[in-house]
Amino acid sequence: MSVTFADVRAAAERIAGIAHRTPVLTSRTADARTGASLFFKAEPLQRAGAFKFRGACNAIAALPEAARSRGVIAFSSGNHAQAIAYAGALQRVPTVIVMPHDAPAIKVAATRGYGAEVVVYDRYTEDREALARTLAEERGLTLIPPYDHPDVIAGQGTAALELIEETGPLDMLLVCLGGGGLLSGCALAARALAPDIAIYGVEPEAGNDGQQSLAKGEVVRIPVPASIADGALTTHLGRHTFPIIRREVAGIVTVSDAQLVAAMRFFVERMKLVVEPTGCLAAAAAFEGAVPVAGKRVGIILSGGNVDPAALGRHLAA
Ligand SMILES: *Cc1c(COP(=O)(O)O)cnc(C)c1O
Repeated sequence: MSVTFADVRAAAERIAGIAHRTPVLTSRTADARTGASLFFKAEPLQRAGAFKFRGACNAIAALPEAARSRGVIAFSSGNHAQAIAYAGALQRVPTVIVMPHDAPAIKVAATRGYGAEVVVYDRYTEDREALARTLAEERGLTLIPPYDHPDVIAGQGTAALELIEETGPLDMLLVCLGGGGLLSGCALAARALAPDIAIYGVEPEAGNDGQQSLAKGEVVRIPVPASIADGALTTHLGRHTFPIIRREVAGIVTVSDAQLVAAMRFFVERMKLVVEPTGCLAAAAAFEGAVPVAGKRVGIILSGGNVDPAALGRHLAA
C-alpha cells in the first residue's frame, strides 16, 4: 500500500525515454561560498519546465488500458497542469485541465497547445476540486492529484535516483517542500542509495506547515501562505507524503522571499540557469546556512524554471 523504493525504480523504467534525464550541475563559486560540494539537479530543464512531469508521466503510464482511453483530469493553474497535459499528449491519453477563469492567458494557451481540454471555473464562487470530481465521475476520467498519490510520489523520486546514480554517495539532500510529493519520493530513493544521508525539506518562511507538522507529529493545516514561492503555497502535507517525510527527514527548515530572490540572481548570473522562486528553496537553504553544509557532499534539487519573464526581470532588478 505505501510507496517504496521499488516503486521509484519501476517509475524510472516507465518514464525512461519520455522524461528527460536532466543534468547535474556544479559551481566552484557556490562551493567556495559554502565550503561544501554542491550538486544541483536541474529540473528547470525537464520537459514542461519542472519535475512535475516525472510524476505525471508515471501516473499516466501506470494506468490500465481502459482508463487510459477514457482520459485523465487534473486541477491546477501551475506546473502540475502543464505536466499532465504534456505527459498525456506524449502518451496519447486525453487530458482535461480545470483552471481558474483568471489564469494567465499564456498558461491557458500553453495547456491547450499540449492538446488538453481546458475547463474554466470561477475561483471566487466555485470549488475546483468538487468540479473536477464531478467531471471525473460523469466522463469516467481518472483524477491525478498534484502530490498525494503513490504513482506521483514514485515518479518524483526518480529525480533523486538519477542524481545519486550520477554523483555517488552524498552526505545530505536538500529538497523544496510544498505538499511533499517531491520530498517523499526523493527521500525513498536517497535512503535506499545512500543509507546514511541526511535529508532536509525546505519551505517558504511564510508557509511552514511541514515544519509544524513534524514538530506536532501530525498533519497541521495552515491558511494559504503569501510567498513568491508559488509552487509551495500548499496548506498541508498529504496522507501519503507525511508518513514518509516523518520517517525519513532529519528536519524541515525555511527561507525568506528575499533569500529566494538572491538565489535566483545567483543562478542567472553565475550558472546561466532560470530557476523559479520555488525552485530556489533548497539552494537558498544551503547558501544562507539554514542547514550546516560545510565540508559535505550535498545534493540539491532545483525543482523548476517556470517563471514569467517579466516577473523574473522585476525580481532581478529589485
Ligand atoms: C509543485 C512544485 C513544488 C512542490 O512540490 P510538492 O511535491 O508539492 O512538495 C516545488 N517546486 C516546483 C517548481 C513545483 O512545481
